Formats: sequence, structure tokens, C-alpha cells
Amino acid sequence: MKTSTPSAVTVRVPAKVNLQLAVGPLRSDGYHGVVTVYQAISLYDEVTVRPAERTRVVVTGEDAALVPTGPTNLASKAVTALGRATRQRGASRPGVQIEIRKRIPVAAGLAGGSADAAAALVACNELWRTGLTQQELAEVGARLGSDVPFALVGGTAVGRGRGELLTAALVSGSYHWALAFASGGLSTPEVYATCDRLRAARSVQPEPQLSGPLMAALRSGDPAAVGPELVNDLQPAAISLRPELRRALLAGREHGAVGVMVSGSGPTCLFLARDAAHARDLAVSLTGAGICRAVTVASGPVPGAAVVPVRESV
Ligand code: ATP
Repeated sequence: MKTSTPSAVTVRVPAKVNLQLAVGPLRSDGYHGVVTVYQAISLYDEVTVRPAERTRVVVTGEDAALVPTGPTNLASKAVTALGRATRQRGASRPGVQIEIRKRIPVAAGLAGGSADAAAALVACNELWRTGLTQQELAEVGARLGSDVPFALVGGTAVGRGRGELLTAALVSGSYHWALAFASGGLSTPEVYATCDRLRAARSVQPEPQLSGPLMAALRSGDPAAVGPELVNDLQPAAISLRPELRRALLAGREHGAVGVMVSGSGPTCLFLARDAAHARDLAVSLTGAGICRAVTVASGPVPGAAVVPVRESV
């Protein structure tokens, strides 16, 4: 059995999309109750932790300049929270250098910050040999962000509460997506506030419900059945803040996507394809249409945050 402390641990963590995002009224604690169907997709950040005199964050890759490197970085908050939760006899944990390699665009509705927090929890749990279970890490993570528990488990899951109360979802098959990234992000609180404003005229706001037709379509494994059932209550708010998203969604439909939607709080647009080749074709067409900053392809479901094995040196 391996007992020595590793000199560094790297964790790979996926982005999420919401196949359903049903948003309830604002709660007294300032959050919105949601019912959501998460799916983890093959677009990953990597987080490496290694012992250091003081905790510090180094960010490289996509949108690195937009990511805070101080104590407000969600990965840094996760390290602090895990340190507190596993403190031994009052002694604080040693510092760690947190290296984040970003591929998940920032403030894009793909929960990149939550993903990095989940990765940091898994990485420090391994580095410090603290031995917390995934459930225990999820309890620490839920205090940092509603999407952190899902980034730990991945796959496809139903989220309730703020999104942090998870149950596994029965899903067949793989889903292939083209993702259109916008220039600049959208602030999640601003999108929720806009959603509230747009809904203010309605006297009754129904409690969010899980979509039966979406769950049935996911069990069938047929993207053409899933596409029409994709639903995001934040989409009208995201479009009202960024009207150009409407053009991107229309372009996806014109190019044959079987489902189109804004991802979470946006502004990333998601296009569900029939299969992997169709997703690549869609990506090429959308790039040609010039309606967004960049396009990529990804598939889901994929597993959540996981340690990248260190190659044995020879
Ligand atoms: P949400 O999970 O609220 O839907 P999002 O996916 O739209 O968020 P994130 O990429 O998580 O957006 O970033 C939201 C904000 O969080 C950023 O503007 C950034 O200032 C802050 N942030 C803190 N830590 C990180 C991190 N490790 N990576 C990205 N953003 C971070």
C-alpha cells in the first residue's frame, strides 16, 4: 500500500451543462430554488496542487487574465475550507501552490470556477491524505458553490435545492455538443436578477418541477428526442442582456442542430448534434457563420473530478 505523501497531485475536472434549468422564486436566503438536470461534458480544466510555504494561485490558459489569483479564487477557497474541515488538533494545514490550467471559459455558464473548486478539494484530499469520502467533499464543496458537488460526481444528475442536492439520473447513450463561446462573460447574479425582473409581472411563480418528457428522452438515448426537451428558464434573461445570442441560436437551428439552448446563465450557446460527426460539422458551420468568438465540440456524460495518474518514471 502506498503511504508516502505525493509531491504534487493533478486533477482533471469537467465543465457542466444544464439540460433542464427550472428556476423557482427567490428564497428568503437570497438564493433561487432550482430543479436542474446536469450533464458533465468533455471540456476540462486541470488543477495541480503542491506543497508551498504560502498558499498561492497560478492560472494559465483560456481567459487566465479574468481569473482572480487571490483568496477569492474558488480553488483557493476550497483549499482553505478543506484545511479547516480536516484540521488536526487545531494545527492549520501547510500552504499549497494551486496551478489552474483553464480550458473552460470564465463566466460562460459552464461552472468553471465551481469545477476548479471541486478539483482542488479532490487534489488536496489526496495531497494531504485526508481520506474524506466524495460525499464529505461534497458537503464542504456545497458551501463554496451550488455546482461544486456536481463537479465532483459528474455524469448526468438531477440537482435540487440550489442545485447542490443531487440524485443520479438514468441516462442512455452519449450526447455530442457544439459549444459557441461569446466574447465576454455574463454575471450569474445579474442574469438571475434579470430573470426575476422579467417575471415580476406574473402574480404566481410555480415551484420548479423535473421534466418527465426530458427524463424519458434521456432514457431512450436518442438525441433527436432529447433536443426538443432542453429547457432553460434563464435563457430569456441571458438573451435580454445579450440580444446577439438569439442570432447564434437561430444559426444553430438553421445548420441542423437537434436542440439549441443557452448554457446555464450564459452566454455560451449549446447545440445538440445527432452524433460526433454531426457535432464537428455543426462546429465548422457555426465558425463560418461568424456569430461567436469560438466554437468547440464536447460530449457527455463524462465522470467528475478525478486524479490524473502520475506516469511512473523509468
Ligand atoms: P456559475 O457557476 O455561477 O454559473 P459561470 O460558469 O458562469 O458561473 P465561472 O467561470 O465559474 O462562471 O466564473 C464566475 C466568476 O467567478 C468569474 O467572473 C471569476 O471572477 C470568479 N472565479 C473565482 N475563481 C475562479 C476560477 N477558479 N475560475 C474561474 N472563475 C473564477
